[in-house]
Amino acid sequence: MADTNRSHVVGVDLGGTKILAGVFDLKLQSLGTTKFSTKAQRGPEAVIERVARCVQDAIDECDLSTKQIRGVGIGAPGAVDPEHGEVVFAPNLGWKDVAIVKELEKRLDVPVFLENDCAACIRGVYEQELKAKPKHVLGIFIGTGIGGGLILNGDPYPGFSHTAGEIGHMVIDVNGPKCSCGNKGCFEVFASRQALFRAIQGAIKSGEKSLLTEMLGEDLKDLRSGDIRKAIRRGDKVVEKIVEEAAEYIGVAIGNLVNILNPEVVVLGGGVMEALADEMMPTITKSAKSHVLPGTFRNVDIMASKLGDNAGITGAAAVARDRTK
Ligand SMILES: [Zn+2]
Repeated sequence: MADTNRSHVVGVDLGGTKILAGVFDLKLQSLGTTKFSTKAQRGPEAVIERVARCVQDAIDECDLSTKQIRGVGIGAPGAVDPEHGEVVFAPNLGWKDVAIVKELEKRLDVPVFLENDCAACIRGVYEQELKAKPKHVLGIFIGTGIGGGLILNGDPYPGFSHTAGEIGHMVIDVNGPKCSCGNKGCFEVFASRQALFRAIQGAIKSGEKSLLTEMLGEDLKDLRSGDIRKAIRRGDKVVEKIVEEAAEYIGVAIGNLVNILNPEVVVLGGGVMEALADEMMPTITKSAKSHVLPGTFRNVDIMASKLGDNAGITGAAAVARDRTK
């Protein structure tokens, strides 16, 4: 039986650039969060040490001790093996076969549970935002790359070897540009943050005029998704067209996936959507509708998540809570 003194859980989102840890009660109400930079270049051991410190700081900030923590859930990028607690392959951390759960349990003395980051995000959205508890949900998370998470028949769908949801690498143009995975024309090369930045930089290099160079200088140093929104709102047609094209591709991807999965709800999240939902949603919805088979789109709801960074930590906390029941 669960220890009743242990009335809180921690959710961690481990990303390529930052580590976010949040403390939650068992109803998943947030008590507070702490953020560290990842410093992936220092190697797995140093990063795991930083995750442990980030978790301890978050617990301490909430005036709790690890004795009151029932479990820690961690969402990590790439291919993960939750059963053995290992990150199998995470290119943006530079990790291969890292036994993160064992190492964290050693440092924290609390049970730790691993999940894929996008699977954690859709779980967080499901717990906090989808009050009607739809049975079939598709989550698309657009940031540096593009990831996906699935809930089918009311349960998270991990697939045969826990790699389901890699929709960023769905090929939508066999003759398209090369992707970091080695294939050509993956969804990710058309609509991720990197894809947007690349397209904007290319347009400016070829002589097109954008307000972004006035805002940030010719080299667009420190370009963020929020700058793209600002430029569009000030009437930047070059940037608007690039974002419009990315939104069209997101609609194509949704169309394909709706044909296959027939979900009730499609949730869009991640940093790009957080910054650009207002600009992109009308085109995404229109494009998705024009790429599905007639009749398959009835009552399918496409929505932008408002949870932002909190989706991943909330979902990871839900994993910890449910695995320690
Ligand atoms: Zn790819």
